[in-house]
Amino acid sequence: ASDLRKKGQHQAAAAVMNALDANGQGGGGGGGQGGEEGPLSARTLQMLGAENGELPPELQKCDPKLIEQVCNDVIDAGGAISWDDIAGLQTAKDLIREIVVWPMLNPTIFTGPRAPPKGLLLFGPPGTGKTLIGKAVASNISAAFFSISASSLTSKWIGEGEKMVRTLFAVAGVMQPSVIFIDEIDSLMSARKSDGEHEASRRLKTEMLVQMEGCDPSSTSRRVLLIGTTNRPEELDEAARRRMPKQLYIPLPCGEARRQMVLRQLGPGCSVEAQLSGEDLAKVVAKTDGYSGSDMRNLIQEACQGPVREAVVAAGGERVAQLRGEDLRPVRLRDFQAASKAQRASVTPAEIERYEQYNERHGAKY
Ligand code: ADP
Repeated sequence: ASDLRKKGQHQAAAAVMNALDANGQGGGGGGGQGGEEGPLSARTLQMLGAENGELPPELQKCDPKLIEQVCNDVIDAGGAISWDDIAGLQTAKDLIREIVVWPMLNPTIFTGPRAPPKGLLLFGPPGTGKTLIGKAVASNISAAFFSISASSLTSKWIGEGEKMVRTLFAVAGVMQPSVIFIDEIDSLMSARKSDGEHEASRRLKTEMLVQMEGCDPSSTSRRVLLIGTTNRPEELDEAARRRMPKQLYIPLPCGEARRQMVLRQLGPGCSVEAQLSGEDLAKVVAKTDGYSGSDMRNLIQEACQGPVREAVVAAGGERVAQLRGEDLRPVRLRDFQAASKAQRASVTPAEIERYEQYNERHGAKY
């Protein structure tokens, strides 16, 4: 019953956010201006289930300006992501479902030796779907998704990083079930920085470790899962690694995953028409060996521009406003061939070798 209530609360919070955004009052910045009635906006109070204006005890000591920022800037209000939106990575998806999604859906049976890990570390090259996985976990358990990049704690919230971390985890606890997704966690938790690092960043790191320690995805009253990501797993501090005991390698997409990525954008029923035979598709797949998911996205976007450029040149640049969808020819193999000159693989084989070696030693086996 409590889950249903929470789910309802999140849905209500999303509805309020949408309604306020539609009136041009919500979103972005926050900055502590708040609603007319107090330091926190009506939207934030509703998200926290505190419409009567009385904050839950764990938030009463937090700076309202930071609470407002967490609710405006850190919670990701984007649409739900399903496992099917993520191409490939089948074994990683299966493992994540088993080790964190099931326990968060039903904490009562995942206790003792069945308890989920406190945190999950996703490592691998950039642009391979780590953020998508974090969002899919949150969507699956109807959890609030808090997303922050570790480097922003030192750059965006200069001097307030420590308080921000405390506020973030406190808000996540109140809005549980929650997923806290920390991108580039190595930039904060690097073992290398320990000599001569600033007092402020040392304190920030300590606060983060303390808060991570308090995460418990199987708690019945405060289900918070931490997901960290890194492109440099070998630089992570040992204490941080202990708090994210499951380390999962998220590799580059395999050929079949790359094929799916193309078909999802250009297959039957898609808004952009393409003419790609099975053989053409196989050539695109072969040509993109070593591409990341985001390289594939950029490549497809670039290929789709081919017919547009041609039509604009044929019509005369100034007539672009009169062009209609029907005036564009389908996307063909040659558009991909041209696009692959502009969009090459962004990850080098040497980097992949480095991830694979790390995975051999530390990665969760699945
Ligand atoms: P990461 O967090 O690993 O750096 P993201 O999850 O942010 O990467 O992916 C960036 C973009 O690349 C996504 O928004 C999506 O368009 C595309 N992408 C990456 N990996 C995949 C995948 N496995 N399936 C579908 N799209 C992907």
